[in-house]
Amino acid sequence: MIRILPYKMIETILQKGTFTREDLIELLNAEGEERQLLLRRAAEVKEAEVGNVVYLRGLIEFSNRCAKNCLYCGIRYDNKSVHRYSVSDEEILEAAKHAYEQRFGSIVLQSGEIVSPAFTKRMERLLQEIKKLSDGELGITLSCGEQSEETYRRWFEAGAHRYLLRIESSTPELYAKIHPNDENHSYQHRVDCLKLLKTIGYQVGTGVMVGLPFQTVEHLANDLLFMQNLDIDMCGMGPYIEHQETPLYEYKDSLWPLQKRFDMTQNMVAILRIMMKDINIAATTALQAIDKLGREKVIRTGANIIMPNITPGIYRNDYKLYENKPCTDENADDCTRCIEVRVKLADNDVGFAEWGDSKHYKKKKRH
Ligand code: SAH
Ligand code: SF4
Repeated sequence: MIRILPYKMIETILQKGTFTREDLIELLNAEGEERQLLLRRAAEVKEAEVGNVVYLRGLIEFSNRCAKNCLYCGIRYDNKSVHRYSVSDEEILEAAKHAYEQRFGSIVLQSGEIVSPAFTKRMERLLQEIKKLSDGELGITLSCGEQSEETYRRWFEAGAHRYLLRIESSTPELYAKIHPNDENHSYQHRVDCLKLLKTIGYQVGTGVMVGLPFQTVEHLANDLLFMQNLDIDMCGMGPYIEHQETPLYEYKDSLWPLQKRFDMTQNMVAILRIMMKDINIAATTALQAIDKLGREKVIRTGANIIMPNITPGIYRNDYKLYENKPCTDENADDCTRCIEVRVKLADNDVGFAEWGDSKHYKKKKRH
């Protein structure tokens, strides 16, 4: 009896069309057989709604210069021991060409937060160049933090069509605990940026870190509801991994064990897949920092996007947001082969040379 009762409860919740906050807390806390039921359901929804295909986004971490001071991040401004770099235009274009030739379909250009007219202009030019070198075929996602409306618009017009900006935590009180308390790190401003990106026409992706200091399962349930309410097109969630040279490191002994952070991230992805059936969800690199087969596991249970690192090798070791970041000493060629094997290991196919846009976004556009 004791075993059957909770199993049935999870099953009952999974049969509902929408989940309440309490339902989400139950699902997140599911263990053993109940958890397997959740993961199986997510796999079924993925297969039925978006198919067992994984789309590639070649990730170019083109600069670790950052004006911000997020308390969790290894490349924060105040970390003076970081060797700062900026990949040259030529090298960025070369990496983009490589992605195009490898039939990746899309790239992601990610950096620290740099806000200046020169940066806006440089990116605008690069976007136009990348479109040109790929006959308009390479999809481009940006992840360059909070920018002005004009900058977001110029980049959109220059060819970027997706933007990733994680909310990190949707609970303002927790957001305030993991960021400095100043106007440069405003929760409301981040939300406003997400809304602005939507209005401009980007496919918008957000996400959170899982297992942050002070974070509870209730916070994570809020995060899922936040993403549903914002009606996002894409999501990237990863476990929080402490970095020695950050202020939050002092809380390292109060964190969930790494395995729990991993399992909870997998639960978050599975639940989100069931809630928002046709969005794109990434199997993030941080999962692999905990479990060598982490991304494969999460692809099996809901994720449909993977971001092979194609940053030129010499820079990789300096883009350390967290410790044990994998693939910091490989070159781009290794990544392509490795990713295909990994996706096949998860019994999925790679959607080569396809944009693999969020079906959710396309449906919204039709209405
Ligand atoms: N500067 C941009 C993009 C680069 S940071 C921005 O902040 O939006 C990309 C992501 O790395 C962040 O959104 C954050 O969720 C993640 N990250 C930073 N530090 C981390 C850590 N210690 N553990 C796990 N993820 C981390
Ligand atoms: Fe900069 Fe992004 Fe790191 Fe914050 S998370 S310090 S904005 S790179």
